[in-house]
Amino acid sequence: MNLKVRAIRAARERYEQIEIEKLKAADQFAQKAIKEFRAVFGDVEDLTVKEMDRDECEIIADGLKFWAQKKGSEYCIYIKFYMHVRCRKCGKWFTHPVQNLADVGDLLSRPPMCEDCQMLAKYGTTEVKSEAERVMEMLREIIEIVSD
Ligand SMILES: [Zn+2]
Repeated sequence: MNLKVRAIRAARERYEQIEIEKLKAADQFAQKAIKEFRAVFGDVEDLTVKEMDRDECEIIADGLKFWAQKKGSEYCIYIKFYMHVRCRKCGKWFTHPVQNLADVGDLLSRPPMCEDCQMLAKYGTTEVKSEAERVMEMLREIIEIVSD
């Protein structure tokens, strides 16, 4: 077999090996996340997991959708859970961090607002203004007052 053919075959094999390793890592993380999920939120009968990546997966438990993400440094690794919730104002789905069962209960009994709606309620706009923009606005107002 000539070099070109062997090289292409080697590249394909390496690619396949990487894909296998990726799937394995995603499966390992999903298994870890399920274990951790049960440790934090208690046992769930109806639980399905959707593998995504080596550091994230989706968990559906009793009809509630969660997202698990691997966090931490090289030496300290933990899993953070987020629950998919619907904004009580605009109906948009977003994720909200949950650390325990009471957090989940809170979200269920008092549905939160998404970031945009929170901004709108607080500042009357969804645009996040930078410090510089706010200073410029103040200066403009002052100049207007002074020039009057
Ligand atoms: Zn909203």
